[in-house]
Amino acid sequence: MKVTLLKHTADAEKLAGVAAFTSCSPEGSTELMETKTKEQCDKFLKRVLNYGHHSVIEHASFTFSVEDISRACTHQIVRHRIASYTQQSQRYVKFKELGFVIPPTIKNNEEASKIYLESMEQASKAYEKLIESGIKPEDARYVYPNASHTNIMITMNARALLHFFSLRCCTRAQWEVRQVAELMLIEAKKIAPQLFEKAGASCVHLEYCPEGSLGCGRYPSLKQLKEGAIKDANRN
Ligand SMILES: Cc1cc2nc3c(=O)[nH]c(=O)nc-3n(C[C@H](O)[C@H](O)[C@H](O)COP(=O)(O)OP(=O)(O)OC[C@H]3O[C@@H](n4cnc5c(N)ncnc54)[C@H](O)[C@@H]3O)c2cc1C
Repeated sequence: MKVTLLKHTADAEKLAGVAAFTSCSPEGSTELMETKTKEQCDKFLKRVLNYGHHSVIEHASFTFSVEDISRACTHQIVRHRIASYTQQSQRYVKFKELGFVIPPTIKNNEEASKIYLESMEQASKAYEKLIESGIKPEDARYVYPNASHTNIMITMNARALLHFFSLRCCTRAQWEVRQVAELMLIEAKKIAPQLFEKAGASCVHLEYCPEGSLGCGRYPSLKQLKEGAIKDANRN
């Protein structure tokens, strides 16, 4: 798996700050961009975000290249609708060999690895034979598995990214999409540390787990928090 931040909005944090000032200043954004310092923007942005006015960070956008992940994983990623995607086509690309992801649970199990690799080889051979017999890649690809390697370009704005991270950095997300999300977060944080200061699984900013009994135990569930609060109130 390879995750690269290809492009991002220049001065992403300042731009979001200027957007915040635009809503409550007599000056326009052009003047605010020139007159407001990064420090002023950071301070005001923090305040506005604490009010829950998150639309201002939609002006900051980030484009990633995610390579050699499985089709199972991209299927999960593209469920996030507030984003733009371009994915390698299995219709137009004729594959010389099947590249595939091996889940760690299978890699670490000798018997499972054997079954898995045999199945990949079979799929690969079937694809080759279909292509040799004149079938187009767009139809031959039907024998390819969910594990097939693919490449995808993803553009999300900062608000959509925060939402993506809240769901996909959570231990409830599958290991592969979680790895993608964690690598994307590392890259985004390098560019905009303030925007992504509290980014991560929902519990990181909520300080409780919204997954209830399905949670990993890192944070108490809302129910546990409330029960704790009631007990404390009764004690006092
Ligand atoms: C752990 C986990 C397990 C999952 N399991 C399943 C599963 O078993 N089956 C399955 O089908 N999916 C599953 N999903 C996918 C999930 O249901 C969402 O489709 C996916 O996480 C995208 O989330 P989203 O819709 O909030 O994001 P986005 O599509 O990026 O949307 C962001 C936000 O915009 C708003 N929005 C977007 N579109 C609309 C709309 N049409 N109407 C109203 N508001 C909108 C919502 O507030 C939404 O939260 C799973 C996801 C996770 C993280």
